[in-house]
Amino acid sequence: MPRQFFVGGNFKMNPSTREQKKDIVKILNDADVDPNTEVVIAPPTLYVLSLADILRKDFKVAAQNAYIKNSGAFTGEISPAQLADAGVPYVILGHSERRTLFRETSELVAQKTRAAIDAGLSAILCIGETLEEREAGKCTQIIETQLQAVVRVTKEANWSKIVIAYEPVWAIGTGKVATTAQAQEAHGDIRKFLHRVVSPAVAESTRVIYGGSVSAGNCGELAKQPDVDGFLVGGASLKPEFVNIINSRR
Ligand code: PEP
Repeated sequence: MPRQFFVGGNFKMNPSTREQKKDIVKILNDADVDPNTEVVIAPPTLYVLSLADILRKDFKVAAQNAYIKNSGAFTGEISPAQLADAGVPYVILGHSERRTLFRETSELVAQKTRAAIDAGLSAILCIGETLEEREAGKCTQIIETQLQAVVRVTKEANWSKIVIAYEPVWAIGTGKVATTAQAQEAHGDIRKFLHRVVSPAVAESTRVIYGGSVSAGNCGELAKQPDVDGFLVGGASLKPEFVNIINSRR
């Protein structure tokens, strides 16, 4: 079965007012979009439910993070069970901003992935190398280490609930997009890893999306790559060009 194209919008800690949120939703709600693409919008947690209320019903929402526990004394955290109870289907985990700014290790990201799946959520699992690691020829090694941590705590069946977002850290928010060859190579490596370490079926069915300075101008060529199954979009997801990115396979 072909993998359904997936486009996620990561609003990060934007917009800063409820009014701006409505403007973005209006653009999305009025847009003519490819019905074959799964679209998932991840606003700040504070806005997830109010955005879901006004967002067109063929789009889904996601949280940008969740903790490993379902309840308890964890001030400031949000739990996977709470997200599931609120009807939020997806959560982004392991985003590079969380790995670097909030010191999340691959082991913690793996535990979060397991907890999210156990609670009934699907995870958009972010992985990717820094520029230093790429220049040292460690791209594949880093990706595999980040994935291996998740493999250790998940069963084969869990992979149907995971979308892998390959997001080279040097491309996030920098305007420096990976070339189509770099993206295809990394996505191909991820699929080979899944084939070898999990199963050929999981390698074939798991969606691997690209993130890092995706724009209306570069999405078309990237979307043509055989192992690029969609995008996770930061900055451009707040702009009208996000519609072009959703439609990049059209
Ligand atoms: C992201 O935040 O996941 C991302 C890819 O950001 P940007 O598109 O702005 O590079």
